[in-house]
Amino acid sequence: MNVKYIRAKSILTKSTLGKYTINHYVGCHHACTYCYARLYGKKYYGLDDWDNTVIVKQNAVQLARKSVKPGMTVWMSSMSDPYQPIEAKEKLTRQLIGVLGAKGANIEILTKSPLVLRDADLIKRYDALVGFTIVSTRRIDAERRAPHPKARIEALKKLKENGIRTYLFVGPILPETDVEEIVRQTHKYADFYYFDRLRHVKELGIEPFRPDKAEIMRVAREYEIKAHILF
Ligand code: SF4
Repeated sequence: MNVKYIRAKSILTKSTLGKYTINHYVGCHHACTYCYARLYGKKYYGLDDWDNTVIVKQNAVQLARKSVKPGMTVWMSSMSDPYQPIEAKEKLTRQLIGVLGAKGANIEILTKSPLVLRDADLIKRYDALVGFTIVSTRRIDAERRAPHPKARIEALKKLKENGIRTYLFVGPILPETDVEEIVRQTHKYADFYYFDRLRHVKELGIEPFRPDKAEIMRVAREYEIKAHILF
């Protein structure tokens, strides 16, 4: 992975839902083929090689200390996985959880990596919400460099056993997504679910796929899960 260090001017971005996002990394080693964050990486950061370059905002923690206010809901992250491999060395996500928690923000994390377990102490202390993205219970080509889904499910289980609030993001739903099997293997460890479809297929040059909403609702009823369908 090529690493580029920059000093950012700001670190909080307000989303349409009234939440804020922090993108301290831009670019992602996990290199998922369906990832549309790569379009924003190119548009806003001129990042052409999303899969092999990560931009690190080295002053992210100092900026967060200045700009985060109590009661804000802050999500990490929309333009990378906050626990991609570089986090093991940089520890920016860990430091940010500390700052956000101390400031009284509501912390939300979404990842595909069991590295999140390293920060279970802080996550628990600040009652952060942790989501895992899982689109199949098997290894699929579209997620060639992300941690194996079995490792994600194991990590989800450990977080839940540790009393941490959790959710599952099942998206984008692909032809190979086994919705019922995902729910069967995770429903004891996830407080709620999001289900989403592929987005930006034209720009990414990938085949569109329309998931079966009725089937998701059937599975949700059968396993008595709280499901939010985003399409
Ligand atoms: S883990 Fe998330 S941010 Fe990283 S490449 Fe995959 S979809 Fe994109």
